Amino acid sequence: MALDHTALDYIFRNARVGGNEEIVDLAIAGGRIVLIAANIAADAPEEDIAGKLVVPGFVDSHMHLDKSCILDRCNLYDGTLAEAIMQVAAAKRGFTEEDVYERGRHTLEKAILQGTMRMRTHVEVDPRIGLKGFKAVQRLKRDFAWAVDLEICVFPQEGLLNDPGTEELLIEACERGADVVGGCPYTDSDPHGQIARIFAIAQRFDRDIDFHLDFDIDPSWMDLDEVCRQTHATGRGGRVAVGHVTKLSAIPSDRFVATARRLADAGVAVTVLPATDLYLMGRGRDRDVPRGVAPAHRLIDYGVACSIATNNVLNPFTPFGDCSLLRMANLYANVAQIGRPAELESCLDMVTTLPARLMNARNYGIAVGNPADFVVLDCANRASAVAELARPLFGVKNGRRTFVCPPPRLLREVVGR
Ligand SMILES: [Zn+2]
Repeated sequence: MALDHTALDYIFRNARVGGNEEIVDLAIAGGRIVLIAANIAADAPEEDIAGKLVVPGFVDSHMHLDKSCILDRCNLYDGTLAEAIMQVAAAKRGFTEEDVYERGRHTLEKAILQGTMRMRTHVEVDPRIGLKGFKAVQRLKRDFAWAVDLEICVFPQEGLLNDPGTEELLIEACERGADVVGGCPYTDSDPHGQIARIFAIAQRFDRDIDFHLDFDIDPSWMDLDEVCRQTHATGRGGRVAVGHVTKLSAIPSDRFVATARRLADAGVAVTVLPATDLYLMGRGRDRDVPRGVAPAHRLIDYGVACSIATNNVLNPFTPFGDCSLLRMANLYANVAQIGRPAELESCLDMVTTLPARLMNARNYGIAVGNPADFVVLDCANRASAVAELARPLFGVKNGRRTFVCPPPRLLREVVGR
């Protein structure tokens, strides 16, 4: 196909893209993809991708940059959720804006090197930390816009109705440009009261909502029904997400199916956070420890937008973390005991297209007219990307390279020279 080559900035040749993994060339101009076709005839600078898999940038729908990398300030004893909240609350009193910025920068740079190009970061707001964390993350959003689209979700980790002054800070953060408003009903003295207040703030500022929800494995009660009810009542279907929902791993099959239909009908999306859920759930059991990870891949079958995300990095909630979403997808597949190629492909969807849908991201995906945002992986198909933890070789954002990670080489000893 002939094209005005003077209009092209670059051509990436022999890229394997899309669900059917056909090999095509990607022509870039003005930071956008302007043509996707085999053997584009044009004389622009080019690179041969040699049949490697190209995916749109990874999308991390749930991350906490503000409290990452604080293990040196905490002590881990029993590894419970209550301990994690208490330890972080204590450490948070020493946070400064500069400190949050530096730790967040370190974590964000790791995520960029792993191919993450869109991220929703939750930021704690309460009368102790005030807006220090929020302001630091706003600076990160601005300073790293060349590599990642950062979306800021402010939320009350330590409760809302039990913590006077917090709601005013959430409102001030929305006035200062917070993108999303979040909640954490399980730490509130009045969980349903908090859910109602968060919906009210979201209505007032026209924001999407993202709750930390149902974060234990006691199947006797759930806040999910109330979130679905409020979503329906306020007409906010498609703009509400819930994270963890580990109770879904503990309910019987018939109730799971009914809940999946409820979520799909209400338009409530689900994020699973396997590293945190595996680390914190089932404490107190000395054998047959439950996995405590919601079976998100089964929710997809009912039309629920589901994502797999990082959550925490190197803190009492999750003392691990390389910020690789591909590793999270692999971990999830292993824990969920799924391994057929189509299932592994759905795990890749849960760190790319599905979180993009959850976040209502615009212009996402490798398509003509969209920003030239993509990551080249050192593999030839979508299932092996997850199964083999394919290495991200380089990333392109708005037509410009944001990182390179050349493949390692064996230095074989040459005998007889
Ligand atoms: Zn979280």
